[in-house]
Amino acid sequence: MILYSIISLGVIGVISAIILFFVAKKFNVVEDPRIDEVEEVLPAANCGGCGYPGCRNFAEEIVKAESVSGFYCPVGGNDVMAEVGKVMGLEVTAQKPLIAVIRCNGTKKNSPQKSIYDGIESCAVAHNLFAGEGGCSYGCLGLGDCVDACDFDAIHMDPETGLPVVNDKCTACGACVEACPRDIIELRHIGPKAKRIFVSCVNKEKGAKAVKNCKVACIGCGKCEKVCDFDAITIENNLAYIDYEKCKLCRKCVTVCPTNAIWEINFPLKKVKVDKVKRVEAKVEKEKKSENKTDN
Ligand code: SF4
Ligand code: SF4
Repeated sequence: MILYSIISLGVIGVISAIILFFVAKKFNVVEDPRIDEVEEVLPAANCGGCGYPGCRNFAEEIVKAESVSGFYCPVGGNDVMAEVGKVMGLEVTAQKPLIAVIRCNGTKKNSPQKSIYDGIESCAVAHNLFAGEGGCSYGCLGLGDCVDACDFDAIHMDPETGLPVVNDKCTACGACVEACPRDIIELRHIGPKAKRIFVSCVNKEKGAKAVKNCKVACIGCGKCEKVCDFDAITIENNLAYIDYEKCKLCRKCVTVCPTNAIWEINFPLKKVKVDKVKRVEAKVEKEKKSENKTDN
């Protein structure tokens, strides 16, 4: 009886193995070896910045499309994309690198505290509960969801201003952009010599209401739009926006903005003409002399 059971089980096992062998042969999917090769040149950050869940999926999609156009790895940048192009035997057009910028300047000074938040330390939660300690319902909540989302140690909270600061480790993966419930963070061109100009405000309220909560809010006055010779600025819903593709970094808008809502980064300080300095010094000297005379 035992022998009979062993023989039957053995026969069933052999038949199953033969069936599995033929099924495996029939449905065998031969993977394109280029997928491995493309994956190998990718940085293995698996950050999702390319728009795909991981580097492997990104490689699979490139090979499937037989094209590199429309694909970009923000972490590896143009160097990695050139390597991908070599694997695929395709030419890759270099893209301008991007960086995250914080479109809010509601520092503790510019937007003084009006209330205290005592809830869960999360911007996503706080966003649904209140306007923000400074009262601007568009501004940064300062609880650092963007910092937590960054895998590259490229963004931190400045305790003095209460706002996030992005450093040059930023790979423009976009994780912070996704994480911010207030849509304050934008990926923009790094710019020549890292020079950038952008409106550091996303408040869409009418001017008086906007400046009530933050003195550097954009009031949508349109002065920047008028002064720009390159049609780079548009005003929509009381808010100015600078198109970085059109902006030539002339800084005219920065000068005319009455609330200092436009930020310029990495520009040298404006030179004050020597004769102007001399004129001011002479005026001060003259005033001093006349004060001395009156005292005597
Ligand atoms: S700062 Fe933002 S875009 Fe830059 S690496 Fe961090 S999460 Fe990504
Ligand atoms: S930028 Fe957005 S995510 Fe970051 S601290 Fe401010 S509100 Fe929170």
